[in-house]
Amino acid sequence: MTAPTASRVALRGDLLDFTAAPAWGDVEPAGLRFRPDHWLLVEDGRIVGAQPGDQPPGDDWQRHDYRGRLILPGFIDTHVHSPQLDVIASYGTELLDWLATHTFPAEARYAEAAIAHEGAARFLDALLAHGTTSAVAFPTVHKVSVDALFEAAAARGMRLAAGKILMDRNAPPELVDDVENAERECTELIDRWHGVDRLAYAVTVRFAPTSTPEQLAMAGRLVARHAGVYMQTHLAENRAEVQWVHELFPEARSYLDVYARHGLLNERSVFAHGIWLDEADRAALAGAGAQIAHSPSSNLFLGSGLFDWRANLDAGVAVSLASDVGGGTSLSMLRTMADAYKIQALRGERLTAWVALHAATRGAAHALQLGSEIGSLEAGAEADLCVWDVAVGPVARQRDGLARSLHARLFAWMTLGDDRNLVDAWVAGVRRTPLAQDA
Ligand SMILES: [Zn+2]
Repeated sequence: MTAPTASRVALRGDLLDFTAAPAWGDVEPAGLRFRPDHWLLVEDGRIVGAQPGDQPPGDDWQRHDYRGRLILPGFIDTHVHSPQLDVIASYGTELLDWLATHTFPAEARYAEAAIAHEGAARFLDALLAHGTTSAVAFPTVHKVSVDALFEAAAARGMRLAAGKILMDRNAPPELVDDVENAERECTELIDRWHGVDRLAYAVTVRFAPTSTPEQLAMAGRLVARHAGVYMQTHLAENRAEVQWVHELFPEARSYLDVYARHGLLNERSVFAHGIWLDEADRAALAGAGAQIAHSPSSNLFLGSGLFDWRANLDAGVAVSLASDVGGGTSLSMLRTMADAYKIQALRGERLTAWVALHAATRGAAHALQLGSEIGSLEAGAEADLCVWDVAVGPVARQRDGLARSLHARLFAWMTLGDDRNLVDAWVAGVRRTPLAQDA
């Protein structure tokens, strides 16, 4: 699947990205940048500029003509579990049962190197096939699963943050380890992978109930010791889970406070879900510069709750979008955006295509402290690009033909589209054309 690296590449199409966050409800935001029929110029893996379609670059540029199609920054999925592709679309449970019934057995298989390597390759190829070029991912507790995922991401040139899952209680014996061993393995993995190519280590606490206070303290030490590492975990996804956390950590003011007390709340913290929070929690998140990885598909599928996006926005909390596969039912960020819209509709709110698209690109990049690297088509950024058909099939094409505004077109794209709409994926200026869907 490796394409030759071309040092100078020009892509012609309708360029769409953001220069600022769109306001809630605004269908014509100032920060939206739409440049129909332009060449996007990429040199040595980075965007160097753009020019109108009738001014083609010279013959020393490898030119790709995508006229009539959208060229967007690659999507950033800020919360997804690589081994859980094996349990996507599993019937019949809420969060805590779902973990025990479906997730833990699937993750246990990743102790085996061959399964970990195959699974990592399948997962990353599937992300690319859905137009996702960067991810913040959970492999498993097994060190080999982390090595396998980082190796596979490096082979594809992808930006990826991941880390060994930390669990030392309330999980099957084959998925827990002790504080000392976990600290040693995490330190080895950080030394091996953090900052290599486009890879970053994320100290990965599954969630508060599966860690002892001692293990959470160790995770906090890792974050304090290693500059630039991320921290990822789950937060306030489900009411039974929140109640359990109150019982396990009675001294903490709230679920979020459990993490804050252990040094796990900062601007590189990625908290999945964050549905059942209060104002004090949101103020703490905003104050720390931490982000919520909103996972609408998973929240609907597991019946977890309806995320209050506006309350987070009003409190100044960064909100990114995430598939949360296997709780989520699709790796497609289009399907994820469509589900996010439906959650807001159930809350009596309206999510514009722009707020959703921004959260999956520039918003996520900024929340990850990577705003100058990914998530936009700005000169200087890494050329992670996806080319999209706005409409595929007679129903979507008819709808697109009748759309009267750019927002109407893009809203229909996000609502009706999926991986079939993806034409090409480019990662750091290299074409990584997705594998055939039935391969
Ligand atoms: Zn998750």
